[in-house]
Amino acid sequence: MDVDYIIVGLGLAGLAFAEELERNDMSFVVFENRSQNSSRVAAGVYNPVILKRFTPVWDAQDQLKIALPFYRSLEKKLSLQFDEKYDIYRVFASIEEQNNWFAACDKPFFVNFMIPEIIPNNNPGINAPFGYGKIINTGKVDTSKLLEAYSKYLDNKNKLRQEHFDYTQLNLLPDTVKYKNVKAKKVVFCEGFGIKKNPFFEDFPLNEVKGELITINAPALDMHYMLKAAVFILPLGNNCYQVGATFNWKDKSLRPTPEGKKELLKKLKKIIKVDFEVVDHEAGIRPASKDRRPILGKHQRYEQMAVLNGLGTRGVMLAPKMAKVLFGHLENNHLLDMEIAIGRFD
Ligand SMILES: Cc1cc2nc3c(=O)[nH]c(=O)nc-3n(C[C@H](O)[C@H](O)[C@H](O)COP(=O)(O)OP(=O)(O)OC[C@H]3O[C@@H](n4cnc5c(N)ncnc54)[C@H](O)[C@@H]3O)c2cc1C
Repeated sequence: MDVDYIIVGLGLAGLAFAEELERNDMSFVVFENRSQNSSRVAAGVYNPVILKRFTPVWDAQDQLKIALPFYRSLEKKLSLQFDEKYDIYRVFASIEEQNNWFAACDKPFFVNFMIPEIIPNNNPGINAPFGYGKIINTGKVDTSKLLEAYSKYLDNKNKLRQEHFDYTQLNLLPDTVKYKNVKAKKVVFCEGFGIKKNPFFEDFPLNEVKGELITINAPALDMHYMLKAAVFILPLGNNCYQVGATFNWKDKSLRPTPEGKKELLKKLKKIIKVDFEVVDHEAGIRPASKDRRPILGKHQRYEQMAVLNGLGTRGVMLAPKMAKVLFGHLENNHLLDMEIAIGRFD
């Protein structure tokens, strides 16, 4: 089998790069072994405002300009809706926060996103005496639904191998690579935290952070927007809500933990005042980088090898643009911005 690319990993990074190849009529095969699940458990929220300090997310406007049409056209291609528009209601903790909100609303970047008003709380199930700030033009991608549908799509086209990519079997030939019966011009590694097992990228500069989420059933909550206080509460339909997430830099296991659940429940009970039942609990490891920027580019020595990683806490917004940038770099020799290039760590 001769292809242009081998992709290792089908999370958001691998999916976005595969899609970029399809749109450019290039052939590829993807290997996916289900060893990581960051993209599958992700809450999928996209939002250009850092909700702690009311500052802009790095490069947000440009990322959204590419990400929103990217997901829209994928919805068409897969005949599936997975991008749902929801407003975010940020719970104010004090008068000071209300004042900070108005100060931020005056900045030109936020005009299309932050509403310069204090929204009073009229939901008796929520504890928000200082009201809310409302953010519009945001939403969430059902990443699990998207990845499942995209896997099927690739499988039907014989472009997916649901197996472990064994690094020891990769042969580097002049200008190409060979892996078992596949010969490719290039291999792009999109393994998320799984890259820690990749011998070609030892000491990869990740600062991975585990996250846990719970799903609750709360019939009396009746909330149709995304709520942000100490945790996010996201409506899933059928009286269910996703609550998260934790940040743990020490635990590298993929298992949900009693400590993670306890932390989420403690924060949740400060925000909502209705009965609920926990119906699910998941965890994943976010492939965050040391300087909170994505990491992409070619291997220092092997031109036929590249990485797309470091998507951190914002894979939904970042992946489509970063895949496009990496493609331009590999196929058209476009220079990578030093802020995102793997070479910045040399
Ligand atoms: C709890 C939680 C909540 C989050 N919420 C959000 C959110 O609301 N919004 C947002 O934008 N982002 C969110 N994120 C972050 C987002 O999930 C990540 O940025 C994104 O998933 C990273 O994607 P990735 O493809 O780089 O990595 P991954 O999703 O980890 O994908 C890597 C893939 O490679 C595969 N793989 C690895 N090694 C091999 C191998 N040797 N052979 C074959 N396959 C291999 C793995 O099985 C995996 O499928 C959240 C993450 C977590 C954990």
